[in-house]
Amino acid sequence: MRWSEAFIPTLREVPAEAELISHQLLLRAGMIRKLAAGIYIYLPLFQRTLLKVAQIVREEMNRQGAVEITMPVLHPAEIWQETGRWDTVGKELIRLKDRHGRDLVLGPTHEEIITFLVRGELRSYRQLPINLYQIQVKFRDEIRPRFGLLRGREFTMKDAYTFDATEESFKKSYQKMIDAYFAAFNRCGLETVKVESDTGAMGGKSAHEFIVLVDTEGGESLIFTCSNCDYAVHSDRASFKEAAPPSEKVLPYEKVHTPNVMAAEEVARFLKLPVQKLVKTMIYKTDNGFVAALVRGDREVNLVKLKNLVGSIEMDMAGTEDVQRITQAPKGFAGPVGLAGLEIIADTEVAVLPNFVSGANEGDYHIKNINTGRDFKPSRVADIKVAVEGEVCASCGKGKLKASRGIEVGNTFSLGTKYSVSLKATFLDEKGGERPFIMGSYGIGITRTAQAAVEKFHDADGIIWPKTIAPLDVHIVPVKMEDAQQAEVAERLYRAFNEAGIEPLLDDRKERAGVKFKDADLIGIPVQIVIGDRGLKEGKLEFKVRKTKESSTAPIGEAVPYFKKLWETI
Ligand code: ATP
Ligand code: MG
Repeated sequence: MRWSEAFIPTLREVPAEAELISHQLLLRAGMIRKLAAGIYIYLPLFQRTLLKVAQIVREEMNRQGAVEITMPVLHPAEIWQETGRWDTVGKELIRLKDRHGRDLVLGPTHEEIITFLVRGELRSYRQLPINLYQIQVKFRDEIRPRFGLLRGREFTMKDAYTFDATEESFKKSYQKMIDAYFAAFNRCGLETVKVESDTGAMGGKSAHEFIVLVDTEGGESLIFTCSNCDYAVHSDRASFKEAAPPSEKVLPYEKVHTPNVMAAEEVARFLKLPVQKLVKTMIYKTDNGFVAALVRGDREVNLVKLKNLVGSIEMDMAGTEDVQRITQAPKGFAGPVGLAGLEIIADTEVAVLPNFVSGANEGDYHIKNINTGRDFKPSRVADIKVAVEGEVCASCGKGKLKASRGIEVGNTFSLGTKYSVSLKATFLDEKGGERPFIMGSYGIGITRTAQAAVEKFHDADGIIWPKTIAPLDVHIVPVKMEDAQQAEVAERLYRAFNEAGIEPLLDDRKERAGVKFKDADLIGIPVQIVIGDRGLKEGKLEFKVRKTKESSTAPIGEAVPYFKKLWETI
């Protein structure tokens, strides 16, 4: 690629629209441009990177026996109504109408479509297992599109779907995808952590996410890993081993005057008790009415756990008026004793906590020495709290949980028969019995992965592409393109690299050397070759490795073999 023919609009200034470093760098390096919120144009350099990421993913999928297809982006609403997701996916689903007024959907994922395909075609267990995938644009009207391509409204995804006859066979299909994912991300230069995750709107049985750890704000996923065992889990699902409750004599309960004291820490201070003796009573509005959630004063409610427990798609804190009506008291004094007309869900720690304090459902009053069972009966006891770093691992019971942040680049879902049952997709088993397919679904964000690499690999001067997904391999920079000898050497190298199957970018602009060097560091191609007067006098070229900034020289005639050797060290 010649710079003069390409379209690489680099910027000196940091664009105001971008908060995250990788987003800033992709804009500055002339890789992407924004069309609208969460919708981007991929420019020539970035297009090459995306094709490379996609090709790596494709090769690793194929290696595991998956086969590539292409499904439509435009879906009739009926199939989404059949599975119920027309309603459950909510506003993320982009809906439109055709000229006849029929409802359509822009595909955010393709479980419905693949199941439609398979139910009409695969009839026998002998045709299973099968793994079909595609690499394609997806649409989601994200509530907060942000961070460039990390959370777009239009993005590229690899999505794969497996169909198996038995659980045993499904386990193997699932493991193959796990292997493919680790291999693909590794080849992209990205180390990933596999964590257990929530199944969310996808439904189904269990799920895993692949996370690239980053310390920046772009790391939207909070995960926990154990210091002792291989337990790794998304915060949505994380639990920990709870300490045994203090053994105390059960005391009679007592109403106490707490004028204007509401927050758990304030009440604890006022009553001279540790905050662990307090219980927060939080009221939420769900799809099926209100629920009260009880967690210890030093804990927070995990909304994902609570939503899953009550089976609600939407959930919000109840408004002040609702709280007042339900508790018959001003907001801030809710408590479980005497609370009626809604489900009361007690966290597991609360259920065994002796003599705790919570609101009295009366302005300026709390109740001391509440005991679950004696003073109120929760409708359910469950782990509904947010996990925190330092707690004991729930899996091994020994190690401590460590919190990290990261970017979710892929995930895998064990769907069970959710979609095959709702879409009536069945096959005939060995005995001639009709059975629903056991399904899995597997996504990799191609655009997100590419940006994750930038978030991970850059320095003050620009991007440092991992060599496998760099837009091009080598960046040839003649210091002065007007110089006939330099131009001639540059052209010669450009031809030699192309012929050797190494992809060169030739900066053939008649620009100042400083500008060219800055741009070279900004766009981050792994190796730069500088052609300057001084070197040419000795018949030499300067090679610079973008990552280390280390320079070395080699004779012009040996440029290609020298490059190949250098490449192995990057
Ligand atoms: P998230 O929790 O980040 O919203 P998700 O659980 O909705 O992700 P999936 O539906 O499983 O994601 O999609 C598979 C992959 O597609 C994700 O792992 C991610 O890499 C990518 N992806 C999902 N949503 C977006 C988006 N809005 N922009 C870019 N990539 C996305
Ligand atoms: Mg999502």
